[in-house]
Amino acid sequence: MKSVSIGELINEINKYDSTMIFDVMNAYNYARDKHKNQYRESGEEYIVHPLTVAYILATMKADKDTICASLLHDVLEDTDTSKEDIEFEFGKTVAELVDGVTKLSRVNFESKKERNYANTRKIILSITSDVRVVLIKLADRLHNMSTLSFKNPEKQQEIARETMEIFVPLAYNIGAYKMKCDLEDLSFKYIDKSEYDRIQDETNILLYESNEFLKEMVNKIHKILLSEHIPNQVKVRIRNLYGIYKKRRKGQKLKDIHDLLALKVIVDEVADCYLSLGLVHSLYKPINSKFKDYIANPKTNMYQCLHTTVFGPKDSLVQTQIRTNYMDKIDTFGLAAYWDLNPENASTKMQEIIETRSQFYKSLVELDKEYENDQEFVEHVKKELFSGNVYVYTTEGKVIQLPVGSSAIDFAYLVDPEGACKLREVYVNDKKVHEDYILHNKDRVRIRTDRFSFPREEWKNKVKTTRALSLIRRDL
Ligand code: MN
Repeated sequence: MKSVSIGELINEINKYDSTMIFDVMNAYNYARDKHKNQYRESGEEYIVHPLTVAYILATMKADKDTICASLLHDVLEDTDTSKEDIEFEFGKTVAELVDGVTKLSRVNFESKKERNYANTRKIILSITSDVRVVLIKLADRLHNMSTLSFKNPEKQQEIARETMEIFVPLAYNIGAYKMKCDLEDLSFKYIDKSEYDRIQDETNILLYESNEFLKEMVNKIHKILLSEHIPNQVKVRIRNLYGIYKKRRKGQKLKDIHDLLALKVIVDEVADCYLSLGLVHSLYKPINSKFKDYIANPKTNMYQCLHTTVFGPKDSLVQTQIRTNYMDKIDTFGLAAYWDLNPENASTKMQEIIETRSQFYKSLVELDKEYENDQEFVEHVKKELFSGNVYVYTTEGKVIQLPVGSSAIDFAYLVDPEGACKLREVYVNDKKVHEDYILHNKDRVRIRTDRFSFPREEWKNKVKTTRALSLIRRDL
């Protein structure tokens, strides 16, 4: 991300809403004045940083309050300005956003001090009040990560690790896939430089070798859809380097190209997705077992798409992803996509969606209710929400997200909080297993209950989630 000028920011905003220019200029002049005589480690004037953060958000068509708050996001921290000053000049919403971003910079999972646990708790909960705070903070982190080379090596490591630990999961949980991938790669580069370089080289070679036949596939698919009057765009999408690294660690070879490169077919209507699927299969034969319908069966972070892996030219296997424009925007930007899709009431819509559909949000609220002690709260948030997840299916094909290490009892309490206490038998992929069975990705889980079964004391030690634990205590 290169630094931008005020002219470039205004240009970007003019593309979608020129009515906010007056207020944006006011916020810019105010911030420039406050940061006068401050410089970045790169030697640039400080104002370049808030400008670039605002620019990143403008490319996502952010609303006026968000753009103004992003220009002002460092004045509370770095200058003698107060929250009241900002509220007086720019209104309550902008002041709340700037305050939220300033606090979010202080989340710290490592600190062992009592006082910091209380603070961290407050900050984590502030995330839930306006999701735009998270978006501004992510844009801020993106720019800081791309100028990390100006810091000393120790600081680089610390910031890169913190990004992986806190900001990557946050981006994931609001569905901001592009920001998540960019943050991962920027951090990966500092955490393991030699591995980063090696994967980048190998990927480039593979891209070079596949270039010809991918082009051929893009053209053929584009033409056959047009001949059936389906407007479309076909692109090559490359998995991010950290994503490839994770696959490699699981023992996959890089030449399994279908996990690394994919064709992305974007159409207007949902019905066209299925028509296009048929047309793609008429050109290239699919591997039946690799087909996935995430349109009928969305992922927990709202991802929707058809995935099919086909036999391409030159003995290659190529994953083809088919989706609508709408799905593509949600997948790329997550909740932030509503700035573009629903400009009239985007922030209300974002907040409504995160409160009703996000398991992350619901779990935060539950953990807050459960733990009075700040340290316990912070540790559980870290363990249950900021470490990895597993994804398993119910017998109806619904996807359920749980923290890594969760058992069948955790699953039972998540899908059926009232009935789980009557748990009698557990079947995973049609095989009977013990109730403390640890769940794996893609397990299909069936819980059998009967009215003569009762919860047992020992269950308390066999669950990972706070939700299950507190329900077991209730049932006992
Ligand atoms: Mn900043």
